[in-house]
This record gives sequence, structure tokens and C-alpha cells, in this order.
Amino acid sequence: MSDSFEALQMPYAPAEESPLVLIVEDEEAIITLLDYNLRNAGYLTAIARDGEEAVDLARSLEPNAILLDWMLPLRSGLEVCRQMRRAPETSEVPIIMLTARGEEQDKLRGLDTGADDYLTKPFSPQELLARLRAVIRRTQPARLKEVLTFDTIVMDQSSHRVTRGDRLVELAPTEFRLLRHFLQYPGRVFSREQLLDAVWGREKDIETRTVDVHIRRLRKSLNDADESNVIRTVREVGYALDHP
Ligand code: CA
Repeated sequence: MSDSFEALQMPYAPAEESPLVLIVEDEEAIITLLDYNLRNAGYLTAIARDGEEAVDLARSLEPNAILLDWMLPLRSGLEVCRQMRRAPETSEVPIIMLTARGEEQDKLRGLDTGADDYLTKPFSPQELLARLRAVIRRTQPARLKEVLTFDTIVMDQSSHRVTRGDRLVELAPTEFRLLRHFLQYPGRVFSREQLLDAVWGREKDIETRTVDVHIRRLRKSLNDADESNVIRTVREVGYALDHP
């Protein structure tokens, strides 16, 4: 066992439902802070100190959530995030990016890569725990039902496959989660803000027009030339998955 592998440390008697959080960070002081606070809050923890170890541990442990530092040895947090989204074992795990950078462009890039939320250092442990609870809660209901359908659209969450009729629909991670959200509430109209909350997380700095960009991409993948547009624009309100 490598010395940077400190999985499954338990502060108290382990409860079966304790979620496992993978901490991916190379600064010892921050590792200690995160590890201490998470274990105190009842989480199990595992630690990876570089990008390659992060990908390996995420695949083998299948954690309930990942805290992912942006600047890492061997592979950047962005690259790690991208790789995790590509692998079936980790494509759905909630990822919170941790970074010293605070620029809008970086946040968009991080979230575009498939991160669920974003925390800028320094952050308070309370804020971190609140975000963590939120992303874990948000991803749980989706896991309860493996196959979601609407009209001829079928989303199989376990295989991460989407089909419309006989056609396989290729979706990027964000569009996949956007569609999944719509499929969970067919017919319901969501404002851009609600979609940001549900799909991107509680990230106030993201502009609502980001939603429009991803809606456009989702429609492009979902609607072939002769197929009807099932993502309805509700003027001055938002969007809904609906029969045209
Ligand atoms: Ca770092």
C-alpha cells in the first residue's frame, strides 16, 4: 500500500451509509484540513496526491463524491475531471473543483468539463460541507431509477446510453445531465436559474446564458432532421421537455 493511500479512515463507529469522499489535493495543509473536517462530519475519506492516483482511486473505490484540486502534479484537475467523466465507473460521481483561481473563464471551463460545483480557496469548512451535501443529495434521486424515458427517448443511466427511436444519441456530460433532469420532470417548465441549480450546482457566478448554450447543444444532438424538437422554449420563463 502506498503511503499516499489513506482510504477508509473512520472517526467513529462506521455507519453503513457513510458516504466515501475522495480528496484529490497535493498540499498537505489542505489535505489535513479537508480530511479532519470530513471525518468529523461522518464521511469516510480517501486521499490522492496527484492526478494519476486520483483517476486510479476513483475507478477502484467508486466514491460518493470527489473534491478535486485544480493544480495537481502529473495531471491537472481539469484533465482528471475530463477522464472521470469519460469512464463509466466515474461518469456520474459528483465532483467539486477546488482552486485558488477565481476567474469566470476558469469556472466555466471547470463546469463545462463536467464538474458539479466549484469552490475557490480559501473556503470555510462549513461552506464545503454544505456544497458536498448538496451535490450528493442532488445525484441520489437520479440513481434510484436507472432507465428514464420520454416519447421515444430512452436514457439508460447504468450504461450511460441515450437513444431516440433506433438512433444512438451522443451527449457531452453536461447535456447528459441536463436531459436527465428534464426526463425526471417531463412537462415541467424550468427557469434558467433552476436549471443552473439542478445541473450545474449552486454556482452564483455562472451566467444564465450558459444554459442557453447547452440547451442548443442538447437540441442539436437530440433532434435529427426529421425529428420533432422536444425541448420547448417557454418565452420569458425557460425550458421544458414537452410534446411539440
Ligand atoms: Ca494544488
